[in-house]
Amino acid sequence: MSDSRQGSRFRTYTEIVELVETLGKGVVEQHASDVDDKARFPEEAFAAFKEARLLSAMVPQSLGGDGLNIKQLCKLCEILGQYCASTAMVYAMHQIQVACLVNHALTSSYFQQYLADLVEHQYLLASATTELGIGGDLRSSICGLELEGDNFKLVKQAPVISYALNADAILVTCRANTDAAASDQVHVLVKTKKCEFEQIAGWDTLGFRGTCSSGYTLTAAGHVEQVIPAPFATILSKSMHPVSHVLWGSLWTGLAASAVKKARQAVRHAYRKNPDMPPVTSLRLSEVDELLFSMRGGLYQSIEEYQGLLDGDCDDAFTNFGFSIRTNNVKLRCSEMVVDIVGKALMIVGIMGYKNDSPVSLSRHIRDAYGAALMVNNDRIRGHNATMQIAMRDS
Ligand SMILES: Cc1cc2nc3c(=O)[nH]c(=O)nc-3n(C[C@H](O)[C@H](O)[C@H](O)COP(=O)(O)OP(=O)(O)OC[C@H]3O[C@@H](n4cnc5c(N)ncnc54)[C@H](O)[C@@H]3O)c2cc1C
Repeated sequence: MSDSRQGSRFRTYTEIVELVETLGKGVVEQHASDVDDKARFPEEAFAAFKEARLLSAMVPQSLGGDGLNIKQLCKLCEILGQYCASTAMVYAMHQIQVACLVNHALTSSYFQQYLADLVEHQYLLASATTELGIGGDLRSSICGLELEGDNFKLVKQAPVISYALNADAILVTCRANTDAAASDQVHVLVKTKKCEFEQIAGWDTLGFRGTCSSGYTLTAAGHVEQVIPAPFATILSKSMHPVSHVLWGSLWTGLAASAVKKARQAVRHAYRKNPDMPPVTSLRLSEVDELLFSMRGGLYQSIEEYQGLLDGDCDDAFTNFGFSIRTNNVKLRCSEMVVDIVGKALMIVGIMGYKNDSPVSLSRHIRDAYGAALMVNNDRIRGHNATMQIAMRDS
């Protein structure tokens, strides 16, 4: 069976959530420390995800996928974020690429077939937007498609491509051709089997070690049908920008929730030891849970807004400054609140949380949490918001 049907029916969202919970508590958590220690790809988790057909969760049912929407995908990322933030991040980054294809490439028979093949073979997709000399500015590229008839060649100096060597394909941003302006960009799918990777940077980092985000000079070749048939500016505003920020925000929320859970375990433990007097840390626990509540509240508001716009088919709304600012706000707030929440959880858990080898260690949580603000630097995002704040109309 090449699609997500169980017998004569598609599996339900509830069944998928239960499956992800089981895999999270099982294979994902079991290998999380080793993935982090060795800065290696979470191969056991992804073998299990492929077996469970989770890489095609967002592909429409008409092409054999589960047809989940963004709100449902956010829930899956939040669950995975509780067990291993690197695994959750790789899953989220893959789904961002799938969303770009589902929302912008289905008018092309090439991409319809590609997504059907993704369902069958559970292809893993990576992304190369960041470029040497440009950094995280998504709206300009130095490299461009070198066109020769219907074929292209592309060379990109990419300082960071997560799990490039484990992926089946990479969606790359570049100029439409070598003479095009830096902002006249396209989004092209290149197959890793047909690429050359010359490593230019390693990935021995503080956190998100399992994303294996080394840098490469990427040399690719292909046919022009591999270019998504929509301007990258449209793909970015409708899909890549909002999907990235709500999926990342979701997995960071899972990471924060897991730290609060460890803090609660520590408070319960202290209470059992001395039931006559509530531990001082119970008040701290109450405070940190309020922060988690706010983080989730802002995130869910943003997810609801974005899902509503997608359901309402109102394409103009995605370029609206108010929507862009709120989408940036969710990234800014979640990426900074996760650090605050994990830090406060450490104060509650105390020295046992500080140890690397304790069952309530928060070491990986803290290191991963600090990566969130750097994934497209928060100051860069605040800079964009500052410009839009002045130009936007008050509602
Ligand atoms: C775990 C992880 C995985 C990643 N995976 C990928 C991937 O798969 N593919 C990919 O393409 N990229 C990936 N990235 C790269 C990421 O998305 C950013 O592009 C990259 O971190 C560079 O960000 P930056 O240029 O915004 O800022 P930095 O390089 O962090 O910027 C350095 C400094 O310059 C300042 N700065 C730079 N430009 C501006 C500006 N215009 N306005 C205000 N301040 C500015 C920043 O505020 C900061 O202080 C990953 C990053 C991480 C952390």
